[in-house]
Amino acid sequence: MDPDLTEEQRLVYHTVREFAAAEIRPHAAAWDRAGRFSWDLIPKMTSLGLWGMSIPPEHGGTGLSMTSVVMAVEALAWGDAGIALTVAAHNGLCATHIALAGSEDQKRWFLPRLAGGELGAWCLTEPGAGSDAAAIATRATRSGDGWTLSGTKAFVTNGSLAGVYVVMAVTDPGRGPDGISAFVFDRHTSGIQVGKEEDKLGMRSSDTAEVVFADCAVPGVLLLGEPGRGYRDAMRVLERARIGMGALAVGLAQAALEASVEYAGERKTFGRPLADHQAIQHMIADMATEIEAARLLVLRAADLADRGKPFRRESSMAKLFASEAAARATAKAVQIHGGYGFMKAYPVERYYRDVKLTEIGEGTSEIQRIIIAKSLHPRKSSGFSGGPGAN
Ligand SMILES: Cc1cc2nc3c(=O)[nH]c(=O)nc-3n(C[C@H](O)[C@H](O)[C@H](O)COP(=O)(O)OP(=O)(O)OC[C@H]3O[C@@H](n4cnc5c(N)ncnc54)[C@H](O)[C@@H]3O)c2cc1C
Repeated sequence: MDPDLTEEQRLVYHTVREFAAAEIRPHAAAWDRAGRFSWDLIPKMTSLGLWGMSIPPEHGGTGLSMTSVVMAVEALAWGDAGIALTVAAHNGLCATHIALAGSEDQKRWFLPRLAGGELGAWCLTEPGAGSDAAAIATRATRSGDGWTLSGTKAFVTNGSLAGVYVVMAVTDPGRGPDGISAFVFDRHTSGIQVGKEEDKLGMRSSDTAEVVFADCAVPGVLLLGEPGRGYRDAMRVLERARIGMGALAVGLAQAALEASVEYAGERKTFGRPLADHQAIQHMIADMATEIEAARLLVLRAADLADRGKPFRRESSMAKLFASEAAARATAKAVQIHGGYGFMKAYPVERYYRDVKLTEIGEGTSEIQRIIIAKSLHPRKSSGFSGGPGAN
């Protein structure tokens, strides 16, 4: 743990880690097998303030700093990555978008509900547009004082469970990213249907579904932010959310490291514990070093965000490095466990599957490299023209 953390940040980490040890870890394998989110967690996590971490106190949340949020996400992911993803999408994407761009009325209406444990979903990706997020086809057309939305969103975390949806749609075709607006609305809005519920490789305790908007009527007051600003606001949201995804990767890697250290101390080969073999020591040393480096990158990006400094490049670096370091760490963890690592009886098998999402969600590693490279180019592009989107 970083020595410069404040008392509050340490307390958040230890409180959430204790909660994860008692209420999440013991059930993680069963949730993975079932492939669904457990509703039992909602009240327990509400009382800890976990659904309102990114929501200001005046709107019912705990209003944690970004640094405290990443500490909480790391501890949750140590317990179970799918639960951390559920919380991260709810807070880091849905609630953050409303908090950043919403009107006072929208904040007053939606944020306390989210802080109270009604799940939030954030719908940008579509079957035909993921990395190239500006190529979305969901269309919002004017009808009277409001809008009518039509289109299909793919791979939406909390998609089949959410009470509140933030949705990006084209309001002005031909204007590219500047023709995209965001909307926020209630699950009971007529015309919203849950489509295909995904059966996934990992993160199986989180819900992922298609959300279909079939001539869905939205009142004008539910336009979120300025018209034509939806894509830019979504990129601002992702910039913050990626720090959380980095923290999620660190938590998973930390769990893989701890499992490996424990196993290497117990398992004997050639008359000695695995931990005495230098090849195993090297793997464990590399895991620990990369996790520490990843955590520092995550904390650095979070600290910049907390101090109101630019952090676009640093958030991409944190997400890129942490997710790839975590993928290496979980692969090493399986290797250290030998044949047992391949079996579902050991949690490292799950970590190895769960970790892949961190290299894909909220912008793939390839997209993070593009963002970082662009930021270093002497002719800095805005990131909106010509290049790929950054979901
Ligand atoms: C479990 C899960 C949960 C998710 N939750 C959400 C959610 O809550 N909300 C939401 O909106 N989305 C969500 N997503 C979607 C996610 O953000 C996208 O899957 C991701 O951005 C990649 O988009 P894609 O799947 O369309 O891949 P594509 O964009 O088709 O990319 C395919 C491959 O090509 C690479 N590639 C693409 N363009 C380039 C380029 N210019 N240069 C080099 N390589 C390139 C990509 O890196 C990738 O390797 C989720 C996805 C998953 C798997």
